[in-house]
Amino acid sequence: MTRRTKIVATIGPASDSLEMLEQLIIAGLDVVRLNLSHGEIADHLATLGRVREAADNAGRHVAVLADLPGPKIRSGRFPDGGVTIETSGEVRLAPGDQPSDATTIHVQHATLLDDLRAGSKVQLGDGAISMTVLEVGATTALARVDTGGRTSGQPGVHLSSTAVRLETPTAADLVLAETMSEAGVEFIAVSFVCGSNDVKRVREVVGTRAQLVSKIETRAALDDLDDIIEASDAVMVARGDLGLDCPIEDVPHLQKQIVRACVDAAKPVITATQMLESMITAPSPTRAEVSDVANAVFDGTDAVMLSGETAVGHDPVGVVRTMAVVAARAEEEAGYRRWARMLGRKQRAAGGVGVVDVDLQITNAVSHAASEAAVDADVAAILCCTRSGRTARAMARFRPDARMVGLSPDPKMVRTMCLTWGVEPIQVDMYSTTDEMVWFAVETALESGVVEHGDTVLVLAGAPSGPGAVPRRGHKSVATDVLRIVRVD
Ligand code: PEP
Repeated sequence: MTRRTKIVATIGPASDSLEMLEQLIIAGLDVVRLNLSHGEIADHLATLGRVREAADNAGRHVAVLADLPGPKIRSGRFPDGGVTIETSGEVRLAPGDQPSDATTIHVQHATLLDDLRAGSKVQLGDGAISMTVLEVGATTALARVDTGGRTSGQPGVHLSSTAVRLETPTAADLVLAETMSEAGVEFIAVSFVCGSNDVKRVREVVGTRAQLVSKIETRAALDDLDDIIEASDAVMVARGDLGLDCPIEDVPHLQKQIVRACVDAAKPVITATQMLESMITAPSPTRAEVSDVANAVFDGTDAVMLSGETAVGHDPVGVVRTMAVVAARAEEEAGYRRWARMLGRKQRAAGGVGVVDVDLQITNAVSHAASEAAVDADVAAILCCTRSGRTARAMARFRPDARMVGLSPDPKMVRTMCLTWGVEPIQVDMYSTTDEMVWFAVETALESGVVEHGDTVLVLAGAPSGPGAVPRRGHKSVATDVLRIVRVD
């Protein structure tokens, strides 16, 4: 059985050559992440070109996710060589971009003094240095250093999202979103989303050219989680910033809550940050990191993500291989069938109550029936014929044991399915009727070796749509409403 959990890896100086990209794809990379917070846009576009070439060379489908920087607040520059901020000492925080030192930290945020109160928490870098504001004056705020340490350059400054109204997306984000969607990336990740309107503003620019991934990394986003999930195509549990904005001990529980909500809503979810962090320099991961990856699989995540490990680490290919082995082993122990039964019961209990989208109700019902029929008929594979990816995502919610293939005539949609749990994407010829669609799906699964003569397969589909499609008589449903069980002869 192939691995079902997808791997997202951030590409950076350690991994952006054609040879390295090819090796990463062969090692199991499914989605490339371009982190637009670092580097020049021209370099990211060049990497995108190499990813396409490497995927062709490796004969694999790979999606690309461009991650927008969002509103990152930084400090004024510290002196070369860095400074030590002493624990239990006091520092002054001042708005502006003048240089910082060990006693006065400038923060590039004009309304700093309006946003801070006595008791506000301020963190530098990834939270390594944390401070509590004691009093706010006319030109500076005085803060006690709770945890000190060394810092250098221009570290990020984290102010609680409940105190600061983050401007998401920024004007620069919208320009980058336009450029990257025009360049053809499959996904655009929106950083520091605070509410569903933030996602909608990016959607206005991107349209249907790329799918939107909302990064959940603020407390405000948690308060609007259901609407954000609904407005998004996928979600990322961005544990780095989430652990700054929320108590760090809440992160594992928030991860479970977000993953569960996304799986129920058939939206792919990525668990991100520090998953194999020690492998940036070490040859093997810590036991705690291996457990973290396995636990994300048990939580039901669609994908696990690598950041610095593959962008700047010493052995990007080794990290992807490690991630793949750990995820595949965890899947052997994950209680997916119990999960599917629970989801089915939940869906039935809610059946009809407050349903506004009949197509969605039909899709949910048919995919639930398919998850049970796949077990009863002991099928070798579930073939999801899909234009929008919706049928494959609806089916993947139930985390079936049988292999799942997502078949689409649209090459971009084929790559987009690389993020969905368990879906093996394959491109098929254009079809015009439901019969043709089922026939193509079975033939393609046979040719690609997913099924053999004598196997039983389940085919799931909606009405054909798009150019050349023969409309069905009597209804215009876009729901997944065809379930066939076919013996391959
Ligand atoms: C995170 O905060 O966990 C994250 C993925 O975002 P970024 O790497 O952009 O800080």
